[in-house]
Amino acid sequence: MAKLLEGKPLAENIREEIKKQVASLQAKPVLASIMVGENAGAASYVKSQSKAAENLGIEYRLQTLAQDTTEEALIDFIRKLNSDKSVNGIIIQMPLPAAIDYKKISAYISPEKDIEGMHPQNIGKILFGKARLIPCTAASAMELINSSGMDLYGKEVVIVGHSEIVGKPLALLLLDKFATVTVAHIGTSKAGKLEEHVRRAEVLIVAVGKAGLIKGDWIKEGAVVIDVGINRLADKIVGDVEFEEAQKRAGFITPVPGGVGPLTVTMLMRNLVESAKLQQL
Ligand code: NDP
Repeated sequence: MAKLLEGKPLAENIREEIKKQVASLQAKPVLASIMVGENAGAASYVKSQSKAAENLGIEYRLQTLAQDTTEEALIDFIRKLNSDKSVNGIIIQMPLPAAIDYKKISAYISPEKDIEGMHPQNIGKILFGKARLIPCTAASAMELINSSGMDLYGKEVVIVGHSEIVGKPLALLLLDKFATVTVAHIGTSKAGKLEEHVRRAEVLIVAVGKAGLIKGDWIKEGAVVIDVGINRLADKIVGDVEFEEAQKRAGFITPVPGGVGPLTVTMLMRNLVESAKLQQL
């Protein structure tokens, strides 16, 4: 029976470290959060972020802009935050109104204040093995894998899902550890090859958003399984992996909820402190 890789205890340890780093900074760090329009999903993220920030001694400055804010006005707003010396990190809350292109907008955030790690310069740093601000979900998955104690050198790692926030940065981070990385995606599934790749994974990371996509009996004995997926069913939230069957075969597995989720906001705060340190240089 697999051991559970739970995010909460890991997050608590990392938060203690963040608190020490916050205390060593010259000034209380400030996180600027931008919400465009009122949205229940974004509001719930904002609530958990502001609570986490408060507990760590970080100032959380929320700015809510009107629903009809244009891309140009948002870019102007970001530029002001970039030049505001009291602001250490900037996050744009999702979802954004349909008229605003997140990828375009996020490239205007100063790379030193890009606590979501999505600026091309920060992604480029990961490519060159010089990661500093890492996308939070990818960072959470790395923390969970590390907490299993597995040495990644030469291991067969299979990532299912190739999004910019999870699969792609993770592939680069894992390559840097000399893992043999396979990235599977919709094309892999359509070619009928998902099962054969998953079956040989010593480390499996799944970030798709489809309940039951990964059958429990595909899991290799002793594998480390990181399930990033969040799927809201009528009566519960589940990941992308059939948990009960997978747990019988895996060595370590993340529960959903309770695995990756509780770590991501902590990774955001860790990036904020990293940003504050970059600005002190
Ligand atoms: P995206 O929709 O951006 O990416 C999903 C990926 O899965 C894409 O690469 C897609 O390929 C691929 N895919 C879709 N269908 C299949 C299939 N049948 N077989 C193989 N690959 C497939 O999602 P995100 O990366 O943003 O999120 C993924 C999941 O992780 C979601 O459930 C999300 O809720 C969850 N999540 C959880 C977080 C947490 O804190 N726990 C944080 C962020 C996300 P293509 O695009 O080519 O179709």
